Amino acid sequence: MNAYVQSVIDNVKAKHSSEPEFVQTVEEVLSSLSPVVDKHPEYEAADLLNRMVEPERMFTFSVVWMDDQGKYHTQTGYRCQFNGSIGPYKGGLRFQKNVYPGIIKFLGFEQIFKNALTGLPIGGGKGGSDFDPAGKSAAEVMRFCQSFMTALYRYIGPDVDVPAGDMGVGGREIGYLFGQYRRLKGVWENGVLTGKGLSYGGSLIRPEATGYGAVYYLEEVLKHEHDTIEGKKIAISGYGNVGWGIMKKAAQLGAAVTYFAGPDGYIHDPDGVITEEKLNFILDMRAKDPMHCKPYAEKFGCEFVEGQKCWGVKDVDIYMPAATQNDVKMESAQKIAASGVKYYIEVANMPTTNDALNFLRSQKHMLVAPSKAVNAGGVGVSALEMAQNSERLVWTAEEVDAQLKKMMENIHRVSAEAAEEYGLGYDLVAGANIAGFKKVAEAMLAQGIF
Ligand code: GLU
Repeated sequence: MNAYVQSVIDNVKAKHSSEPEFVQTVEEVLSSLSPVVDKHPEYEAADLLNRMVEPERMFTFSVVWMDDQGKYHTQTGYRCQFNGSIGPYKGGLRFQKNVYPGIIKFLGFEQIFKNALTGLPIGGGKGGSDFDPAGKSAAEVMRFCQSFMTALYRYIGPDVDVPAGDMGVGGREIGYLFGQYRRLKGVWENGVLTGKGLSYGGSLIRPEATGYGAVYYLEEVLKHEHDTIEGKKIAISGYGNVGWGIMKKAAQLGAAVTYFAGPDGYIHDPDGVITEEKLNFILDMRAKDPMHCKPYAEKFGCEFVEGQKCWGVKDVDIYMPAATQNDVKMESAQKIAASGVKYYIEVANMPTTNDALNFLRSQKHMLVAPSKAVNAGGVGVSALEMAQNSERLVWTAEEVDAQLKKMMENIHRVSAEAAEEYGLGYDLVAGANIAGFKKVAEAMLAQGIF
């Protein structure tokens, strides 16, 4: 390992010991950069890595809201404006009970490189709150979102920082947030948020974009291996927005998700989640109760394995973890490697612990693709939404979908080329880190110190 890279990792470990997720992502990204820093002494001379692991700005704010019984609650709101050198800060808001600075920072750091890989001018940011949306009424969610935006609106804007959704923040929440922004500012600036409804500046294909993009990326990996997607069987974890997009696009291209896991266990549907009826059932099931996927098995008469994950099943061609961070730990990775399945395509942000990821990467029979490249189509289409908003135009679904496909092809290509350039072969994990890093590094160097 390059000594400068190691020293920055050590600094982050010492300084952020209470934020293990952030340490994990920094270690993952920086350990790919050794050969780049060896070759480019100017990065060390400008102390670029220490500058990159320190958010340009990160703040908290109080979010007070009243429940339906008239009781007050106080939550912590966060926004991390991590790196703005290639464009306005861009990244989602996560509303989940376990949100704390380490989660926001890890997501913000990943976002820098992911956003750079899209090839579009967006910097890295992330935010959220420890608000738990589970069991809250629509009125409670609305009051929470209004209070959240009242605290945040001064610090964001179409050319400043453009939040979007993440876990716990979907179209409904974005609507409430945008309504409050508009009321407070008295301007029509719909480019301030993405993931909006179609009636006020949302982009077609944005809800599906992350899942669709992941499948387009998978197609590129298969193409590289002289293989095709047709007839492939896929096991995923998660059946949220992203998992649902994967199911839909896989079905359109003649593949099928035959296993999916939720918090209560996993489903095995040998026919695949390929019909409109099944896809719609999943949407309904999730809206009613996001914690249980068992009703799918009851409805369609297939197997449900309680309390287990589907990592290690053998009758699939591809694994796609699409639930949340650290879903795949060493124990699951060993099962995955033993299954003989070749493709491990990460989708959720940091779904694999570093030891498990390195173990899977070291398996000769396997190909691993990293989430920051695979899931970049979501934020990529957010950037297309920003473009449509500034043009005051709406593009057709076909136009957006075609651009998304092109974007994913490009992300795969620049990642493969970056790895090749440093003699690493077809290493998509290192390649994504290197390609994303170099773009941001160049912009930071060009702009001097601030
Ligand atoms: N939260 C998504 C992500 O992890 C989307 C962010 C966005 O569209 O700004 O990339």
